[in-house]
Amino acid sequence: MLVMGNKLNDKLINGGVTRFLRRLRRILLYTFVFIILLFVAVVVYYHGTLYKAGEAQKGYLALTGATVLVGEDLAPSPNSTVLIQDGTIVGVGNDSDIDIPSGATILDLKGYTLVPGLIDLHVHLGSPELEVGQQPSLLTMPKMIADWVRFIPGTRRAFLNHGVTTVRSLGDEYKWIMDFRQQLRDGVLEGPRLFAAGPIFTTKGGHPVATFGTDPMSDSVRLPATPDEARDLVNELVSGDSSVDLIKVVQERGSSERSSLEPIALDVLEAIVTEAHKYDIPVIAHWGTQQDIKDVLVAGVDGLEHLESRGVLEGWPMETLDVLVERRMPLSPTLMVTNVVIESDVHKQLRERLEDFHDAGGRIVLGTDAGMPGVPFGASVHRELELLVESGLTPQEALKAATSEAAKELRTGQIGAIELGRAADLVVVHKNPIQDIQAIRNVAMVFREGRVVVDHLSD
Ligand SMILES: [Zn+2]
Repeated sequence: MLVMGNKLNDKLINGGVTRFLRRLRRILLYTFVFIILLFVAVVVYYHGTLYKAGEAQKGYLALTGATVLVGEDLAPSPNSTVLIQDGTIVGVGNDSDIDIPSGATILDLKGYTLVPGLIDLHVHLGSPELEVGQQPSLLTMPKMIADWVRFIPGTRRAFLNHGVTTVRSLGDEYKWIMDFRQQLRDGVLEGPRLFAAGPIFTTKGGHPVATFGTDPMSDSVRLPATPDEARDLVNELVSGDSSVDLIKVVQERGSSERSSLEPIALDVLEAIVTEAHKYDIPVIAHWGTQQDIKDVLVAGVDGLEHLESRGVLEGWPMETLDVLVERRMPLSPTLMVTNVVIESDVHKQLRERLEDFHDAGGRIVLGTDAGMPGVPFGASVHRELELLVESGLTPQEALKAATSEAAKELRTGQIGAIELGRAADLVVVHKNPIQDIQAIRNVAMVFREGRVVVDHLSD
């Protein structure tokens, strides 16, 4: 009996174990199926929303009947044709002077103006688009991460929709921005051409570490404490397969109202510039005060970012202005970003100082600081153009700041003008922005290396 009882017990226990194992197996199976489905959904979402580049333009494409802004001067030429072959401009002239090869695709653009693709020289691509004072919420976090891994398809679309076919990133995570640039270069992703500075050179007590709380250890800043460290850090970025296109330094003491910030020591600043120049890599500087601009001019930087009240509201120091004009130093005033944070009458004075700079023969290029709160990607370029016109530039000069002059700062003869041999990065707008800069807002079509990336004409 005892033996029998034991057997029964075993049976009961075994039955329980079997049931438990069966249930466990079912749970594991469901979990497994759920994970597989989730994985498939993520892959489908990732690829479906990647915004991949379209087929390269092949053969001949003739854009006829348009007013074409020709050459680096953007000289308007009515009733004109732009002939494109395999993404490159191979003919520009009056409709009657251009022989259109048989088999070419012809697009009649009578009543429209052809403008070179716009260039924004100052963007931060890693930042989400926010209003002033808005903080990214917990709910927007997953979307931000999803956007980050897909290289921000919405932002790439926003640039192209506004005719911005080239951007320069001035401060983003190094590895991410280099991967991003490669995917655009390889024609995997659709979007604007990308030039990038990678991380920002600053100090532990400087902007953006002390102002925005950027992690000093993050890949988006470099904090050299000595000239030797500076040379090593620059060297890492400019030698090797994926060199940055330029170096950005932040020389910023802060204003008296704000807590003062720690600028880069002059010998460190000079080491950064000298090392970059060894590799033919330009250095541009974020500056704030008059002492900041003096430092970066002594160090020998190649370009200037921002124009702020604390720097010039009282007027330009004569000797600084002379140096800037004499060196043909490009200044990207980023009026968009100051316009959203300072009062309108103060901003008007700031634009008057920009007018002084322009009148003295200073060289102005266009950057917006898009990615900063209140400065949207793409659309900001249109507003910045208007602000430049409000600072005394003619619409033609403002457009040059966003095209041929900007391309010179990027040191490329490939873009920035409608002329033979340049890439067909083009914007078709209603009416003529040379007559009224606001016409630039009315984008009808955008070409990126000859392929249509925006088309409201056949919508
Ligand atoms: Zn910036």
